[in-house]
Amino acid sequence: MKPLGSTGPWAAGPVTTRASAVLAPNPGWMTLDGTNTWLLVEPGAPRAVVVDPGPDDPGHRAAVLAAAQARGTRIAAILLTHGHADHAEGARALHEATGAPVRALDPAHRLGGEGLAEGDVVTVDGLEVSVVATPGHTRDSLTFLLPADRALLTGDTVLGRGSAVIVHPDGDLGAYLASLARLAELAGATEAAWVLPGHGPASPDPAGLIADYRAHRAERLALVAAALASGISDREALLDAAYPDVPDALRWAAHLSLAAQLAHLTGRAGAPPAG
Ligand SMILES: [Zn+2]
Repeated sequence: MKPLGSTGPWAAGPVTTRASAVLAPNPGWMTLDGTNTWLLVEPGAPRAVVVDPGPDDPGHRAAVLAAAQARGTRIAAILLTHGHADHAEGARALHEATGAPVRALDPAHRLGGEGLAEGDVVTVDGLEVSVVATPGHTRDSLTFLLPADRALLTGDTVLGRGSAVIVHPDGDLGAYLASLARLAELAGATEAAWVLPGHGPASPDPAGLIADYRAHRAERLALVAAALASGISDREALLDAAYPDVPDALRWAAHLSLAAQLAHLTGRAGAPPAG
């Protein structure tokens, strides 16, 4: 299969007028170069927004605080794209260090602030961030639109490199495909110029990257459907047929996505909605 996203290196730092990335020191198979913590600042404004504080790592927290200070700002709001630990675990300590509320779709991840939901607009000193619900990677996945920079902060829904994992049963492939369709539409309507992902390099071609993601999903789903149609039912054999290219270190993650695809193809829903 065609590699998704950039194959080049990613140094983080400033990307758009308002957005810069601080790279967390948690590289790995799933986290790629590490988690991108995004600092958003309206030019000249005294207050900043942080998207995804990343892991609970004192060095990373100090780097995020220093990046805010270097821009002459203090952190006034912390937003989460979703609750996975590599994005959200550091939220509590950053909240304690700054007093900034932590806002997320999932009430379990909020601290001292309101929630976040589809259609919300977060405004801090002229900086405007619109909230778009993009479930699929997880039930609580959000994308943030930064209209002034025509940028989409996609968390783990669209990565800068490689494909996203659908974390069955919390994640849901039908919801994910609908979210990708929604993002494709949004990228077109807003003439999006950047994807600022949760992991990997920022992409200057949102429409192309999202189209590649949709094609990749369709291709993978067709492989699973063909394997099922040929009579393969054993999970390991299905994985071999549908993911001939997966490294051993990622088989467990591919199994989660395979389970999501089997549930999708056989019409079985994932877990019942929480709460
Ligand atoms: Zn995640």
